[in-house]
Amino acid sequence: MLIFSGLFFFILGSITASALLTWFWRAKQGKKWTVGRSLCDYCSARLPLVSLIPILGKLLIPRCPHCKNFGPWYSFVAELSVGFAWVLVWYYSLVSNNWVTLALQLIIVTALIIVTVFDFYWQEIPFYLLVILLIFTLIFILLNPDSDISLASRLVGAVASAGFFAWQYVLSRGRWIGSADIWLGAFLGFLFGWNTIVLVLAAGYGLAAVGSIIQLFMMRSKIPRTIPLGGFLSLSGLIFFLNKII
Ligand SMILES: [Zn+2]
Repeated sequence: MLIFSGLFFFILGSITASALLTWFWRAKQGKKWTVGRSLCDYCSARLPLVSLIPILGKLLIPRCPHCKNFGPWYSFVAELSVGFAWVLVWYYSLVSNNWVTLALQLIIVTALIIVTVFDFYWQEIPFYLLVILLIFTLIFILLNPDSDISLASRLVGAVASAGFFAWQYVLSRGRWIGSADIWLGAFLGFLFGWNTIVLVLAAGYGLAAVGSIIQLFMMRSKIPRTIPLGGFLSLSGLIFFLNKII
């Protein structure tokens, strides 16, 4: 029975990731959500129905049947990671059996993974996702105040972290970081509180530094890609968040 529940959460998680990515990708292109079946990113040919199944579709039909291009990897990575994250969060919620907490934790891990993957691939963070996330987290914490992090610590964390990015944003005139990073900073600060957000940010910058060194060694082209700092911060937040749950 437990294995079926786990499988259910895995499938539900990957479907959620798939739907969210399709939504953001279409919003980014200025298309409507209800535009019909997904098209190949390269030749715009209509993809076969099988390829729409999360994870499996990519394994069964990795290339577009028309132009033979491999589809982008990000959807596969996001579907797989969100599926695994959902199983993990669900499994560790069995003890407390609190469905409200479970739902919020699922939303948070999903958003952190999507932000990471989206920023790594598109060098951009879906801004409205962060705003929705911030509101969700705020409501949840106000409704469930019995937490090991005080509201004051969360507020100080959010303001300090957002301020830290706002300062860099102003200083670099938006070249180092985007405005969405300020929202991401506010969200992470509120989620972790003042004590932990310092560690989350430090780990995020550490990951970004390692990432840029790896990129430097592996880079073939002359033009360096900008480091997706928001993606690394989000990844750091995900690691800390999962670590807290488990
Ligand atoms: Zn194609």
